[in-house]
Amino acid sequence: MPQPDNSHRREFVLGNGSKLLLLIGDITRESCDAIVNAANSSLMGGGGVDGAIHDAGGPAILDECKAIVHRIGPLPAGQVVVTAAGEMLSKRVIHTVGPVWYGGDREEAATLANCYRNALRLADSEELRSIAFPSISTGAFRYPVDQAAAIAVRAVSEEVPKLSNLKEVRFVLFDVRTHKHYVNAAHNVCTKADQT
Ligand code: ADP
Repeated sequence: MPQPDNSHRREFVLGNGSKLLLLIGDITRESCDAIVNAANSSLMGGGGVDGAIHDAGGPAILDECKAIVHRIGPLPAGQVVVTAAGEMLSKRVIHTVGPVWYGGDREEAATLANCYRNALRLADSEELRSIAFPSISTGAFRYPVDQAAAIAVRAVSEEVPKLSNLKEVRFVLFDVRTHKHYVNAAHNVCTKADQT
């Protein structure tokens, strides 16, 4: 599990002056208002970041997830729901389901962008100021990281300026290679903080 690593901290500025931070770390240890879970439709937990969030947050999160699925059924890809964060430092967990990569012809890109846009809108509607994302779909769901990073950073840079409360968006990435792709993507669409 990566330790907090400030040498990989990269900061960019979004269109409305909000901050975009790219970090390497464990998202379950982030202290920000919301962290995002790359869940699966059952919301019953699993491996990867989903398992880590349920392990760190404790059983209260799963109880809430079960109640949600009981009410609305499985969560479709691209959609979001919110629960408490149990024993983690953040206030809320926003659960979303990324697309499984089948080669790009099944609207994977649009669905992935919806994950980010819908999570940002939900956080903003809950009057949250900061949110941390993992790299949705690039683990077990096999989305190519270069493409996923471009979609993720573009969705954030387009959506955040439309919102009122969110002032900071973090990507908390688990490995150097993934981080590198997100940094490249951010250089293409955002202003680097120390250049402003
Ligand atoms: P998906 O099923 O959406 O592909 P995964 O959890 O399999 O989701 O992987 C998504 C990304 O999250 C991968 O880059 C994986 O390395 C990363 N990841 C796994 N655990 C954590 C964690 N604790 N914090 C941040 N990122 C994580």
